[in-house]
Amino acid sequence: MDHFDHFKRIGLLRGRMAEAGVQALLVTHPADIRYVCGFTGSSAGLAVTAHAATLFTDGRYKAQAAEEVQAAAVEIVASNPAVSAAQLLAAQPGIESVCFDPTHTTVAELARWKEALPAGLRRKLLKPLAAPLVEALRWLKDEDELALMAKAAELGCVLFDHLLGFIRPGLTESAVAAELEYRARLKGAEGMSFESIVASGPRSALPHGRATLSKLPKRGLLTLDFGVILHGYCSDMTRTVCLGKPTKREFAVYEAVLEAQEAGVAAVASGATCGEVDEAARGVLRELGMADAFSHSTGHGVGLEIHESPRVGTGQTTKLAPGMVITIEPGAYFPGEFGVRIEDMVAVTRTGGRVLTASPKALIQL
Ligand code: ZN
Ligand code: ZN
Repeated sequence: MDHFDHFKRIGLLRGRMAEAGVQALLVTHPADIRYVCGFTGSSAGLAVTAHAATLFTDGRYKAQAAEEVQAAAVEIVASNPAVSAAQLLAAQPGIESVCFDPTHTTVAELARWKEALPAGLRRKLLKPLAAPLVEALRWLKDEDELALMAKAAELGCVLFDHLLGFIRPGLTESAVAAELEYRARLKGAEGMSFESIVASGPRSALPHGRATLSKLPKRGLLTLDFGVILHGYCSDMTRTVCLGKPTKREFAVYEAVLEAQEAGVAAVASGATCGEVDEAARGVLRELGMADAFSHSTGHGVGLEIHESPRVGTGQTTKLAPGMVITIEPGAYFPGEFGVRIEDMVAVTRTGGRVLTASPKALIQL
């Protein structure tokens, strides 16, 4: 059970609902449900109105829901909990529409909810939200959340430091990932934020090179991109290290990516748009003739989920605000040769950005 004030969060959500003219909200995305009422089970629907909040789940989660949820009523149902939540909202007097988040609702789910409603309500009652409500609250982490995220980031750094003493030529990428994940668990992680990326030699040119049975070369770059989940919150960091001595070109590319990464971090400020931060990093690589080698966005929000809004990409107009936590992770990739990526988690503060992943960024030779 977490120690967050879920009564406060439901209050904040109701404020946002009122502003958006939403009378009733059906929340089904697990990370949203966890954020609002603390429930961590996988099968649930949360019904929220101006006066009531009810969590529906199934019998497997009876004890867990009783322990985790104080700020909402709990109903245990035998069938689909989200359907029951929709039915409850539909039955409230004076409710003209029930909103749901279309980005987390499948066509099949929506059809199921509609089928369960009285015939007269099927066509018009359920309405997609114009903009996410719970997710918009989740963007802005409070002090307690930031403290947990800093701890998760710090654990990532401790694990990276451990790997520096473990990595040697001849080990498989999978062995490196296994050591990382084993140590993470021993140190209290509930799991990894995503499938660990351990990409060595030419495989470092794959932005999402998952660990394989490839052996680490005597000489070449090695990209490690991983994160842990601690108290529900994800960390995310990337470091590229070099086995043996880097070639001149590898070193030049590394220095270019590092400069871009630091420019991105320096651009993080309350009020700056995500597009401006992306451009700060991208512009450095463009000037060095590596625009085409940087084939993805500069970063993304992170929190209860590894990829959250906002997206830090070209032209994104979302403005950064204190409490957001984003990644800054430019890279340069040369297929068949090598790649470099460097990634930090950065918390947006009133005065700029605070880097949560403190591991060194100067090129490490192993
Ligand atoms: Zn990452
Ligand atoms: Zn990332």
